[in-house]
This record gives sequence, structure tokens and C-alpha cells, in this order.
Amino acid sequence: MPVSADFETVEVSTDLLIVGGGFSACGAATEASYWAKKHGLKVVLVDKAALDRSGAVAMGLSAINQYVGVKDGENTVEDYVRYVRQDLMGVSREDLVYNIARHVDSTVHLFEKWGLKIWTDEEGKYVHEGRWQLMINGESYKIIIAEAAKNALDDAGGEIYERVFIVEPLVENNKIVGAVGFSTRENKFYVFKAKAVICGMGGAVHVFRPRSVGEGFGRSWYPPFNSGSSAYFTIKAGAEMTCQEVRFIPVRFKDAYGPVGAWFLLFKSRAVSAGGGEYMAVRKDELENWAPYGLAKPIPANLRNYLGMLDEDAGLGPLYMETHEAIGKLAEEYKDDPKAFKKKMKELESEAWEDFLDMTISQAILWAALNVKPEEKHSEIAACEPYFIGSHSGASGAWVSGPEDLDTPYKWGYTNMTTVEGLFAVGDASGASSHKFSSGSHTEGRIAGKQAIKYIVEKGQEPAVDMGKVEELKKKILTPLDLFDANKGKYTDPEVNTEYIMPRQFLHRLQKIMDEYAGGVTARFKTSKSLLERAMELMALLKEDSDKQAARDLHELMRCWENIQRMWIAESHVRTILFREETRWPGYYFRADTPKMDNDNWLCFCNCKWDPATGEWEMIKRDIWTMPGV
Ligand SMILES: Cc1cc2nc3c(=O)[nH]c(=O)nc-3n(C[C@H](O)[C@H](O)[C@H](O)COP(=O)(O)OP(=O)(O)OC[C@H]3O[C@@H](n4cnc5c(N)ncnc54)[C@H](O)[C@@H]3O)c2cc1C
Repeated sequence: MPVSADFETVEVSTDLLIVGGGFSACGAATEASYWAKKHGLKVVLVDKAALDRSGAVAMGLSAINQYVGVKDGENTVEDYVRYVRQDLMGVSREDLVYNIARHVDSTVHLFEKWGLKIWTDEEGKYVHEGRWQLMINGESYKIIIAEAAKNALDDAGGEIYERVFIVEPLVENNKIVGAVGFSTRENKFYVFKAKAVICGMGGAVHVFRPRSVGEGFGRSWYPPFNSGSSAYFTIKAGAEMTCQEVRFIPVRFKDAYGPVGAWFLLFKSRAVSAGGGEYMAVRKDELENWAPYGLAKPIPANLRNYLGMLDEDAGLGPLYMETHEAIGKLAEEYKDDPKAFKKKMKELESEAWEDFLDMTISQAILWAALNVKPEEKHSEIAACEPYFIGSHSGASGAWVSGPEDLDTPYKWGYTNMTTVEGLFAVGDASGASSHKFSSGSHTEGRIAGKQAIKYIVEKGQEPAVDMGKVEELKKKILTPLDLFDANKGKYTDPEVNTEYIMPRQFLHRLQKIMDEYAGGVTARFKTSKSLLERAMELMALLKEDSDKQAARDLHELMRCWENIQRMWIAESHVRTILFREETRWPGYYFRADTPKMDNDNWLCFCNCKWDPATGEWEMIKRDIWTMPGV
């Protein structure tokens, strides 16, 4: 009997289904539950992990990166729209950015009410890390936000399913009717039937070969838990996607990916190359080639990366963060008072370590292992491998409908609804609205949560799920278990078998293609039409073999499907870089055959859509709408 025969099918019916349990999903759950209770509706949330510590904020964070501060008169919402436009080299959905920015402060105030400690100064004002960032005691950030979501769900009679991995959307006639997945702990196949679905399953890591391989494999800046489930879910549902070419490459402390924000913004540290001085100053002229964005402030993150990369290409690397210099400068005013100086140094030193202990503990461990004392010696930084994180400085995700009260050209339904009816996307799952971060993702979740309930009240229909199709999906999703079981005895080593490929092997193949042909670390983030076309050829062969993945257990079954989801986001990425015949974000990727920015032809959104009926991809150019007067 095949292993899959032992799987129970569990059916769950709900009005609203939220897939994912991170910041955006918790926002959606909190808000939707409130409105659902008023209307007697049910909300179900499904997370692949445990809500308390799932998603990108699992380890905690040391700053809230989006706070506009309207009440203090510090900034306006329009300022934020300008900031995002500038950082994304002109390509952003300004209606979505505006919508999040005008609501984000209230989200931050809720966080504080729920128990998050936001740093304040002697006058009781929030301590800013930078213009938009607030310092927090963030070790338990996710637990606090999850607790609020759990309470709200509980209060409204909702349900949470943890450790259930969502694989496929259920769609009938371009309308979402639910989702299927499996438990990562028990032999259970889940069928969720819903009138509306909010997708918030984060971004994607390990699509490209990471810098850390071998014994360090698994280390990355982006947390290993998110594998492109959001993009896969919306693409497979037939939703139009946007900015799939806009990956994010952060420059971080090398090898343990420790954050640099506090160093640049709070400690005012400089980054230099070993042989070339401060690359932002030395290579300033290069910024003229990327005008107007290169000449305005703040300089876009990709251009800052790019100047450092130019130093490395010129043989001037490695790059360093001048930690000792920054700490020294901050303590300088106390130098005549040895006691006060010692106290200040101690304080700065502990802030430096705490910054890592709050959110990237491994960096503190690596510093300890390398005998780094930040107050004595600089530390190496490097550009990471590419990630897909539309909520941060990337922009990939689904193309969603704009806010109902704004006069924007992008409106076809309820706010944050994708082009598939009843399917909403939030956080990393929604595209072209970068710089939402934790607070903005939660805010977007709240916006979509309220809108999804409105949609259900006004238009909700009983989901017509075709159980025949579900049975086919169940068979397909569980195949890797059966394949392994049927063939494992044919060779002496269960990992080497002509009948199947193990998920780790498949992952390495995908990563190699992406790294070498689509502008990964070893290709120095460069690619070209011919390289991308070769990537597509190799990807087609990889796709054929994706049905041959084998799994020994539920954990490996999850790995198999994570791989397939990564493969799809990879394909949409390669197709979109190919489509955009210019280089707009050097420092994220460089199309060596079209090395310049071409505003006449490519100051636009590059969208793509996979048609579930034909299996064909369509590439689409969409105009950019600029907010009047902003
Ligand atoms: C390293 C790093 C540092 C950051 N630093 C900051 C910072 O200092 N300040 C700040 O404000 N923001 C920061 N951010 C950004 C912030 O973490 C994200 O913007 C935010 O978490 C995005 O929310 P999300 O809901 O889209 O994704 P996440 O919060 O990552 O949640 C994704 C959820 O989906 C679930 N999931 C994934 N796949 C499946 C599946 N197949 N089935 C079911 N569930 C699934 C996951 O378990 C998780 O619950 C940082 C992000 C990273 C990666």
C-alpha cells in the first residue's frame, strides 16, 4: 500500500481563510476578526510554523522601520511616498504606499498598547534610529503581535492551524474558493474551503545559491522558513504579478548577516573598502549616471550597494564597517573624564552587541568566534545573495487593487485584492509597495482584513470546491513519499537513485542555475539576455525533474514543495529580468548587455501572469501613476 493511502483528509470550512502567520497575516487576523464578529463570520488562519515565532521576525527585531510620526509633525504621508519612489528608482505603486503610510502610525501605537517597549528619551519622545525607524526592545516582538492576533481570533470564534504547509490555491472561474496543504507533524491532508483568502506567506530565500554553503548552509540574511509560498500561491491562482525582477540584496556583516542599520543610522559609522577609502565619497560621480535618483537623497539602497561593488570589482575589497571609529567618535566628548568615558564606552559596546542579540544572534556568535571587539577593530561587510522580500527594499509580489477613496488608475475591486476574485495579498505577497517592513506589513494586513470581510458581506458565496480536483491534488502533493518508498531499496545508498532526486539535490540545482545565469553572488550580480535564456533552458529541464522529487518523511515532503515554490518564483524572476531591457537597479542586478537605465522605455511596471488554463506566461507593461502634487 502506498504511504499516501495512510493520509486522512481533513476538511475545514470558513468564511475568510488567512494563509500565513507572520506580520501581515497577524494584522489581517486582528482586524478581520473584529469585523467578522460583528457579521457572524468565521476566520481561520493557517501557518506552516508556530505563530509565536514564525516568519521573518521569529528572532525579534531591534527597530520598527516604518513610522511616519504624523502626530509629532515630523513627517507627512507624502514624504513617505517620495522616499519610496526615490529608493525604488521611480517604480512604486504610490497609491498603496500612501495607503499604508497614512495608517501605519496607528499600528505602531497598537503595538505599544499590546506591550512592545519602544525606546523613549528623557522627554518621553520615541528614540529614532533614522528618520522613519524607532528603536525597540524587540526580542519578543513577534510573540506580542501573535498574542494580539490569537486573542482577536479567539474572541471572534476563529481558529488557528499551526504546522500546516499550504501548497496550492483552489480556484474556480478566476475566483478563489480555498487552499490545500498538509500537516508537517501528522499524516493529514487539509482542504480549506473559503469565500475569500488573504495570502501572507512571506517572501523567498534560497532561490539563489547562498554565500554560506557546506557546513554553513542554511545561514542567510532572509530567514530560511519562507520559500516563495506567497508568489507560488498567487501565480498558480492566475493572479497578475508585478516587479518580479526587483530582488533585494542587503549589504550586511559578512557570513552571519548581522544588521547594519544601527551602525549606519544610530552610530553614524562609515563603510570603506580595504584599498579605496569611503566608496560613497570616492565614487560619487558614478551617481550621475543614475540621475535623477542617484543625485537625490537618500541615495537608493541599490546604488549604495553598487558603489561598494565597483570597489570590489576594481580589486579594492574587502569592504569594512568602521565600527571602532564610530564608537570612538561617539565617546569622544567624554574623553577628558575617564570615568564618564569608560561608562560611555561600556554603554556603546553593549548597544552594539544587543543590536545583534535582538535579531541576529548568530552574528554575535561569529564576532565572538573571530575575536571581534567592535570598539577596537572594523568588521567585514558584504552584499548578500538575492532575496524576494517585497515588504522591504525589494518589490516583488501580486498586483493588487488600490484604495477605494484614492483616484488611482489601479482599481478593479476591493483594496489589496489581486486580479483573482476574493484573493487578497499582503506584506511580501503584495508587490510594488516596498518599505512596509514589520509595521507596514501589519498595517497592510489590517487593511486587507477589513476589506476581505467587506467583500464577503457584500459578495461572498459558498465556495464551490471541486472535490475531484482536490483528490488529484492530494495524490500529486503526496507523490514524493510514495516515490521514495517504492524505490528506496533499489540501491545501497537511499540518496542516490535513478528513480528519484532528493530535495537537497534539487535545491542545489536550482540555486546553481540562478547563481550562475541570473546574477547571483558568484556571477557578481551580473547577467544578460543570453545568460537568462540559457537559464530558461536549464529551468525547463529542472521543471521536468520536479515531479521526481522523493521524500522520506513529512519534513522532506515540505522541502520538496518549498523547492517547487522556489522554482516558480525563480522562473517569474528570470522572465521579468529578460523582459525589462535595461539596468534600473544596479547593486541588485546588472544586465550587462543593457547596462544603462532607460527612462523613455522602461520607467514602468513589468508585470507577468501565468494562465492556469493554457500554462502560458504573459508579460505586461503597466504605466506608473505619480500622485498629483507629491
Ligand atoms: C533579516 C530581516 C531583518 C528585518 N529587519 C526589520 C527591522 O529591523 N524592522 C522592521 O520593521 N522590519 C524588518 N524586517 C522586515 C519584516 O520582517 C517584514 O517586512 C515582515 O515580516 C513581512 O511580513 P509578512 O507577513 O509578509 O512575512 P513574515 O512575517 O515573514 O511571515 C510569513 C508567514 O508565512 C508563513 N508561511 C510561509 N510559507 C507558508 C506555507 N507554505 N504555508 C503556511 N504558512 C506559510 C510563515 O510561517 C510566516 O508565519 C526585516 C526582515 C528581515 C528578513
